This record gives sequence, structure tokens and C-alpha cells, in this order.
Amino acid sequence: MSTGKKFDADVAIIGYGPTGLSAALSLGHYGIKAIAFEREPAIYPRARAVTVNDSTMRCFQSLGLDQDLVKVLDETVALRWVTYDGHEITRLAFPPSTLGEHPRSYAIYQPKMEEVMRARMRDYTGVVDVRFGVEVVGVDQDAEGVTVTSRDLQTGADDKVRARYALACDGGSSRTRERLGVNMLGETVERTWVVIDGRVKRWWPNRHILTFWSDKQRPVVDIALALGNHRWEFPLETHESEKDFATQEQLWRLLNSLGVTDDMVEIHQHAFYKHHVRHAETWRVGRVFLLGDAAHLMPPWAGQGMQSGIRDAFNLGWKLCEVLKGRLPNSLLDTYEAERAPTVAMMTAIAVQMGRIIKQQLTEEEMAALSPPPGAPPEEPPLLRPPFLEGGWVRGSVAPDSAVGKTIPQPRVADSAGRLCLLDELLGDGFTLLGDGVDPRDLLSPAEKFGWDALGARYAKVLGADDRGDGANDIIDLGGALQTWMRGFGVRVVALRPDRFVAASDVFGLAVPAPDIREGAARAAFAALPPAA
Ligand SMILES: Cc1cc2nc3c(=O)[nH]c(=O)nc-3n(C[C@H](O)[C@H](O)[C@H](O)COP(=O)(O)OP(=O)(O)OC[C@H]3O[C@@H](n4cnc5c(N)ncnc54)[C@H](O)[C@@H]3O)c2cc1C
Repeated sequence: MSTGKKFDADVAIIGYGPTGLSAALSLGHYGIKAIAFEREPAIYPRARAVTVNDSTMRCFQSLGLDQDLVKVLDETVALRWVTYDGHEITRLAFPPSTLGEHPRSYAIYQPKMEEVMRARMRDYTGVVDVRFGVEVVGVDQDAEGVTVTSRDLQTGADDKVRARYALACDGGSSRTRERLGVNMLGETVERTWVVIDGRVKRWWPNRHILTFWSDKQRPVVDIALALGNHRWEFPLETHESEKDFATQEQLWRLLNSLGVTDDMVEIHQHAFYKHHVRHAETWRVGRVFLLGDAAHLMPPWAGQGMQSGIRDAFNLGWKLCEVLKGRLPNSLLDTYEAERAPTVAMMTAIAVQMGRIIKQQLTEEEMAALSPPPGAPPEEPPLLRPPFLEGGWVRGSVAPDSAVGKTIPQPRVADSAGRLCLLDELLGDGFTLLGDGVDPRDLLSPAEKFGWDALGARYAKVLGADDRGDGANDIIDLGGALQTWMRGFGVRVVALRPDRFVAASDVFGLAVPAPDIREGAARAAFAALPPAA
């Protein structure tokens, strides 16, 4: 029911899948009043996404949600490529993360993960109102706000809600995107895949290793899901159709070809889907933003589809908070697309390339390039690299040798009272300036300090474990990881954003950045994408 007030909420969230739910959590955390609309009465029961990584877990850590999630996740220790005749082409063991104490990769069981995330929303009762069984049927905006029309699917009654901003988290076939007249560019690969989910009855060798069965004809994804579930994804051949895999007997023929038998697993559910390499041509129209699958769709090979939506939500969460509280200008919100589109395009390119490996479409040179020359130091695969920005709300160059735009690592540290904890626990929700052995305020001009003070920034001096502490704002870098990281970039002070990216450093100046607005960021970022294989 509309209350007759000018605004019923600051933000309307359309769709409560993983992206909308993450947006609701992030906004709730910042105390931003929001209303979320979801047409389904309950959690979608089919597991789709299979994995989350250390950087996504760091987002959840910022809400204190990671420890609840860990109880329903299983660590993934490695991935490998094998052929049907049992030859292991290559294996990649995941190195320890630098972003905190979570491993690089977890297997999930999506319905359970969403259940745990939804349970946390109880903390935001009175801040975020979630309406189930309610479909959004209209989105209209003017200079001041957005009017969202929703329909109760049981009673057929319509309601109108007025919000300052709206987030379209309504999935790949987003009606909001259509209503805004935004085109989805890119392509859909014609081949259909069948996804088979099973419940494990007994252990088999290497069940826990994410396995890609590389084959030109029938490449397969074989992955342990959390809580005793397992997933296989098979492509249909050109002469096959969905009708050929309608019964369990027909599905077993596929599993049997990998040596999987009914004493190992029981088939739980199956579904068909096609791979998309698509993106919305723009991710913001006025006061409405597109997030998650509504903005971008990628093949599943890199396990980044859902996670990209979660990161979209966390990118916008703190920005909406700053803008709604009047601390940063509305143009900050334009940096959402500028920051997220290049990263999502990079993940999409990685997913396409991983698909080509699995389908054995690489040339010999490309294959050789996958393994570093003997003796060469192993290079961190781009998929595992900590997130970085190519522009947006940062000051100065984001070149590889610059700290600006990089994510700060998260080692164990101690506070000035001697308490040991992870870095983020000391950074909190807001902005922090960290100085290597120096109080950051000593390096700021009065104007710079005025700017950071207005944003509520805190200032901390990073000291080594052998140093003598001298103030309440000390952070003791127990293993030296922070100091090594800062010195590696030649910086004494970094200014951190709430999402742990470096916004500025003393190399390029420490003034509060101005939003770097790039028109057509999504179009530019995706222009260089390889064709979908
Ligand atoms: C087989 C498969 C495997 C995958 N594996 C991975 C993986 O390993 N890792 C990964 O990160 N991703 C993976 N993905 C992708 C991942 O599942 C999606 O990217 C993710 O679900 C997108 O989340 P979303 O919230 O943006 O959209 P959705 O999950 O589609 O959620 C949209 C929500 O909006 C609701 N909605 C839509 N329209 C309206 C409306 N008008 N009013 C109200 N509600 C509405 C829908 O009911 C739905 O709940 C996989 C996908 C598939 C199909």
C-alpha cells in the first residue's frame, strides 16, 4: 500500500534472486530503506550457480554473513582437465587466498545458500521490506524518482510504490530492461546443454576435484556441489534434442559414459539450457540500474555469472548510501557501469576461453601458452587475480604498477589494544586512509583532509610487529603483508573505499576522487570480446 508520502522507499529492488538479494543485504546493512519485489513465493528450487570465490566471500564478510555461509559450503581445492580415456591434461591447485581466510573457491548448493542469505535479511526488518508473490508490471520515472507498479499474483491487486532509485535484478529476460528500451547485445550459442544434478550415495575417486572432461564431441563439466550434491553438464549433439533426454534411463546413458553408475549417485533433477554471451548496451537509464543477469550473461565455465551479479550489488550498495546521505554527488552512480562492465567483460572472455579449452578448440600455440615455460615462475591465472578497477571512482593511473584500483589484501592484524583479527574488521564500513609507518593526516593538505573528514574517513598508521605502537589508530601488520604490498607499489598512504579498492595513493595525490564518468562503458568493454565458441 502506498503511504501517501513523497517516497515509500529510497530504493526499489525488482527481483530477489541472488543479485536482488545481495542488493537488499547491502542496502539493509547501510540502513537504506528499500522495497524488494519477487514474483515467486519461494526460493527457486533448482541449483544453477555452483561456486563462489574468496572475493565474493569478502563481500559477505562485510555483512558478517560469511561464517553462516561457510557452514553450507565446501572448499574446492583444484580443477583439472581430463580426456575420456583417462588422461589428465592439466590440473590447477588453488593457492591460498590473499583476500582473507577463506579459500579461493567454494562449491555451493544454491537453494541452501540463498536460504542462509535470506535468513540474514531478518536483521534488516523495518529497513528492507520484501514482497513475495508480487510481480512488477510497470516502471516509470521522472526527474525525482521512480514509480514501480506491482501486481499481487494471488489477488490480482495492483499497487504503486515511489522510490528514488530502482534496481532491475529481474534476470536474463528482464522486463524492466525491455521497458527501458535497452537492447541486449551479443549472441546465444545454439547448442543446448543438459544439466544433471545428483545426490551422492558413495564417494568416488577425485569427486571433490572440479573436472572438465575435454572432448570435441561431448565435453562435460563434472563438479561437486555442497551438501552431498553433484552436477554434470553435457552438450547435446546436433542430431539430439531435449526429447532424447526426457527419462532417467536416457540421462543414465550420459552418466554411464563417464563411468558414473547408480550405486554412486541418485539423479535428483535435470534441466536444459543454452549459453549466452550478452550484455545490456547501457546499465543505467536515469534512476534505474540494471544488475546481474539483467545486465550481462556469460557461459558458466568460469563460475562467474551469479558472482558478477553479487558484485554489481555490492558496488552499487555503498555508492547509493553515499549519494542518498548527500556525501557524494549523484554522478558517483555513473561509475557503477564504468567499474563493473570491464570486469564483467573480462570474466566473460575468460569463460569463453575456458569453454574453448574444454571443447578442445585451442590451437597448439594457445595450448602451449597455457603452461608456463619450464623454470618460469608460475603466473597467477587471471580468474584468480584479486579484483581490480580500470577506472571509475579513483584518482590517478590504474596501470599494473599502481596501487590505485587494486584490492587491498586482507591479512591478520592486531589493533592498538592488542586484539588479533582480520584487517577488514578494523576497516569497518566506511573509508580508511592507511599510512605505512606514518599517520596519513601528516601527508594530507588541509583541503584533502577536509574532503576525507566529510566522508567520515578514519586514519590508521600501519606498524610492523616489531614496532612500538603509539596511538589508538595503529594497525599492527603481523606478518608484514600490508607493508610489503604498499611498498611493492611505492606508496606510503592509500585511501581505501568501503569495498576495499584503493581510491587514491600519495603517488597521484590524496584528494577525494571525482567520479570518472565514461559514456558507453559497457559497449566499449564488451567490444573486444572474442566470439562465443
Ligand atoms: C546451469 C547453470 C550453471 C551456472 N553456474 C554458475 C556458477 O557456477 N557460478 C555463477 O556465479 N553463476 C552460475 N550461473 C549463472 C547464475 O545462475 C546466474 O547468473 C544467477 O542466477 C543470476 O542471478 P540474478 O539474481 O541476476 O537473476 P535470476 O537468478 O534470474 O533472478 C531473477 C529474479 O527476478 C524475479 N523476477 C523476474 N521478473 C520479475 C518481475 N517482473 N517482478 C518480480 N520478480 C521478478 C525472478 O523470479 C527471479 O527470482 C549458472 C547458470 C546456469 C543456468
